[in-house]
Amino acid sequence: MCIVWEIYRNMRFHVVTLFPNMFESYLSDSILKRAHEAKKVSWFFYNPREESKDKWKRVDDRPYGGGPGMVMTPDPILRAVEKINKKIARFKKTKVKTVIFSPGGISFTSTIAQEVVSKKTTDIILICGRYEGIDARVKKILKAEEWSVGEYVLTGGELPAMIVIDAVSRHIDGVLGNNLSPEENRVSSHETYTRPETFIWKKKKYIVPEVLLSGDHKKIDAWKKALENIN
Ligand code: SAH
Repeated sequence: MCIVWEIYRNMRFHVVTLFPNMFESYLSDSILKRAHEAKKVSWFFYNPREESKDKWKRVDDRPYGGGPGMVMTPDPILRAVEKINKKIARFKKTKVKTVIFSPGGISFTSTIAQEVVSKKTTDIILICGRYEGIDARVKKILKAEEWSVGEYVLTGGELPAMIVIDAVSRHIDGVLGNNLSPEENRVSSHETYTRPETFIWKKKKYIVPEVLLSGDHKKIDAWKKALENIN
């Protein structure tokens, strides 16, 4: 890995995960792939299993107080984060944010994604839980924020990490072909259409709203706003 290169990247994502392979296909296609090639973003993976001092490379144990399932032990995760921080220390002028994924955390929104970028975060550490989650002391020790990506429980933090990488990257200059409009900081819900103007499906006609063909941008904006108020 060439350090000089990395300095020119706008954002580095450091992912702590037991399953780094899960990220491969999502991050190696389309816009994120291009963003990576253009050195706008970069990502690194750290596997707590490799940090485990246990003879059997165990990374989980039974929960105190009883209950089902297993909990991820603090030591391998903290060792992985220490490695990350050592790596980050080699760069100049860094601003680091540490996040643990948890279904009970604060909701990750478009505003947060935008803030990460506008506050000039250079490195974001994303810690993915598995099993019944992560020993609560990790959050305390790292002074990490807990983020949730929605009110449902997933089997692990890997999808949430991909969601964050994707949503944050969109806000980095030059990642999207034409830059994001400021309105995208809130989630817009207007309908979008492309060609053909009249689409026929099973003998029925579906037409594009006339206002969108008018070329009158004031009218178009008003139409979009009206739709947002309805939705
Ligand atoms: N029993 C735990 C659930 C653990 S799910 C609880 O009730 O909190 C296992 C891991 O998946 C979590 O540690 C977290 O990292 C991740 N995860 C699951 N659902 C998530 C969500 N909605 N948002 C963010 N992370 C989630």
